[in-house]
Amino acid sequence: MSESKNPWHPQTRCAHIGCGQAEDAGLNAPVITPITQSTIFDLGTSAEAEALFSGDRKGHAYTRFGNPTVDELAAALCDLEGGGGALVTGSGNAATLCAITIAMAGRHGKLVTHPDIYGGSHELLRLLSASYGLTVEVVDPAEEASWFAAVRRAGAVLLESPSNPLMRLIDIGATTEAAHANDAAVIVDNTVATPHNQRPFEHGADWVVQSTSKYLNGHSDVIGGCLIKRESLTAQERAIHKNLGGTVNAMEAWLLLRGLRTFALRMEAHNRNGAAIADWLVGHPAVSKVYYPGLVRGRQGEIFAHQMTGGSGLLAFELVGGGEAANRFIDRLKLITHGVSLGGMESLAVRPAMSSHRGMSPEARAAAGIADGLVRLSIGTEAMADIIADLEQALEPS
Ligand SMILES: *Cc1c(COP(=O)(O)O)cnc(C)c1O
Repeated sequence: MSESKNPWHPQTRCAHIGCGQAEDAGLNAPVITPITQSTIFDLGTSAEAEALFSGDRKGHAYTRFGNPTVDELAAALCDLEGGGGALVTGSGNAATLCAITIAMAGRHGKLVTHPDIYGGSHELLRLLSASYGLTVEVVDPAEEASWFAAVRRAGAVLLESPSNPLMRLIDIGATTEAAHANDAAVIVDNTVATPHNQRPFEHGADWVVQSTSKYLNGHSDVIGGCLIKRESLTAQERAIHKNLGGTVNAMEAWLLLRGLRTFALRMEAHNRNGAAIADWLVGHPAVSKVYYPGLVRGRQGEIFAHQMTGGSGLLAFELVGGGEAANRFIDRLKLITHGVSLGGMESLAVRPAMSSHRGMSPEARAAAGIADGLVRLSIGTEAMADIIADLEQALEPS
C-alpha cells in the first residue's frame, strides 16, 4: 500500500493499527480487532463456497489460507514497509525460506549473499543446499567489483543491511540495479533497520523480509515474521506461502498488532538512545572500537546518508581487555540483561564470540572481524541516564 492510499504520518498510522475492521464498524462494534481464534469458517451455500474457492468472492475457509486477524496484520506490515502485498509467517526464518523459494522458483542461477547475514539465515541456506540443491555464493560486499559481478549473474540476492553485529552497510540501490540486469529478485532482510529507518522498496528492492520477533513487535514475547513484495502478490506466490505452511495463529497476530501500535514511538526512543550510547562509548578508555551505523565515515557513511534515517538501538563495541574484560563487563551489569535477540524495550548485552559465532574457529572469527572482546548491545527504551550508569559501573577497571 503506497503513501497515496494512506495520507497519515507513520506515527498516526501506527496508533490506529489493529482498529481496522471498518466495514463492520457501527454502534457497539469493538474498536480493537478481535482475535478470531478459529481454524475453520462457515462456507455458506454451495454457490457461495464455489465463489470463494474460484476466487470470485473474498472470504475465509481455513486459517492456514487466511484469517481475519492475520489479514489485518499483513495489511499493517505491508503499509509500514510501503509494499504492494505481505505474507505473514510464524518466524523470521520462515519468511526468509518463503522469500527464497518464491524468488528462486524456475530460476537456475545461484543465490548470492554475504558472509555477515544473520546466523540463522546461514544455517537455513546450508540446509537448503544440502536438501534441495540450492547453490549459494557468498561474496564480501566490501570487495565491490566481486560483489557486483556476482550479483549481475545471480538467480536471486539475499542481503542484510546493516549487518549484525558489525553494522556493515550495503548499497541497496546499486545492488538492485545490478541484479535487475539479469532479472534477479533482491530480498532485503530489513529486521535490524526496520521500516522506520530504512525503506528498501524506495531503492528498488523486490522483497523485504522481517523477523517481527524484534523491533516490530518490540516486547520480546512473540516469534513471527513476514515477507513483503514491492508489487502486488501473484496467486502462485500466495500458494507457495500457503503450502510451505509456516503461517500463524490469530493470537500471535493479535499480539503483534498490539506491539505495532507503539512501533514509531519505540523506534524514536531506540534511535535516540542508540546514538547517544554509541557516542558515549566512543570516548570511554576501556573501549577500543564502536560499531554503529550513525558513526561510520567514508563510503559506508555515504551509504548511511542516502539509505537510512536512523541507526536503531543495535550497536557493538570492543573492549581493550579482550574476552576476559568482556565477560567481566557482562557479569557486572545490573540493569542490562545478558541475552540474545534484539529490539525489545529492555536493554540486552551479549558476546558474539560465545553465542552467535561460537561455532567458528578463533582464526575464522578473527578474519570475520568478531574479536573476543566484542560485545553487542541492544539498547532499549529505558532512561538514558540509567543505561549509562549501568555501563559506567560495569566498565570500571577491576
Ligand atoms: C532474528 C532474525 C532473523 C530470524 O528471525 P526469527 O524470528 O528468530 O526466526 C532473521 N534476520 C535477522 C536480521 C534477525 O535478527
